[in-house]
Amino acid sequence: MKIIMLGAPGAGKGTQAKKIAEKYQIPHISTGDIFRANIKAGTELGNKAKTYMDQGLLVPDELVVDLVVDRLAQEDCANGYVLDGFPRTIPQAESLDAALAKLGEKMEYAIDVNVPDENIVKRMGGRRACVGCGATYHIEFNPPKKEGTCDSCGENLILRDDDKPETVQKRLGVYHEQTQPLIDYYTNAGILKTVDGTVDMNDVFTSIVQILGE
Ligand code: ADP
Ligand code: AMP
Repeated sequence: MKIIMLGAPGAGKGTQAKKIAEKYQIPHISTGDIFRANIKAGTELGNKAKTYMDQGLLVPDELVVDLVVDRLAQEDCANGYVLDGFPRTIPQAESLDAALAKLGEKMEYAIDVNVPDENIVKRMGGRRACVGCGATYHIEFNPPKKEGTCDSCGENLILRDDDKPETVQKRLGVYHEQTQPLIDYYTNAGILKTVDGTVDMNDVFTSIVQILGE
């Protein structure tokens, strides 16, 4: 099962991708998480990516595409994967299709988690991310058991720098300009499925399971 999650920043792609990965036993591959892990580890890739991420801009395609194509070649991806945050531009989608075509494969589902901009700002202001394992919470919609502490690993929860209101507006603009065209791209490919992302996260997941099958 090869799945792409589409949607604005904060639409709930990561939340749903984790649930999909668990139910269908496929890896969850988040380019944002890969960059954040590289930033934490102080790698060259992390340092390069950080300058773009802090400004709410996309990391250049050439720093993203090879990274993902290499990741998809790993053994755990043999039965599929759920891609979260990639592709984010038409050239990334084209590179992904070309890499899959070389293997005689095709993307199977592009799931658009649809949430209007008004809701996004509230979502991202309340998002808290674990500095240890990257788990995400929401102070109102999905709070941790103990405020400020990750349920899974006990590390601290923080507001991501790029979730601050000024950067969120910038990221939304970048989304509409560079990522939203992928809706047409995958509609034309015949694999776009749209779910209402404004409802409770468990109900969003129910709609996704209806698409992917039990
Ligand atoms: P994305 O991966 O698309 O950037 P996340 O999955 O991190 O988005 O979700 C953004 C924030 O919104 C998180 O704090 C998350 O807990 C919360 N969230 C996700 N889905 C929902 C939902 N259906 N309703 C309310 N809040 C949600
Ligand atoms: P995310 O965790 O998916 O919200 O991603 C956080 C940030 O990482 C984005 O705002 C971008 O700066 C960068 N990023 C993640 N995935 C990509 C991608 N596919 N292409 C370019 N930049 C990306």
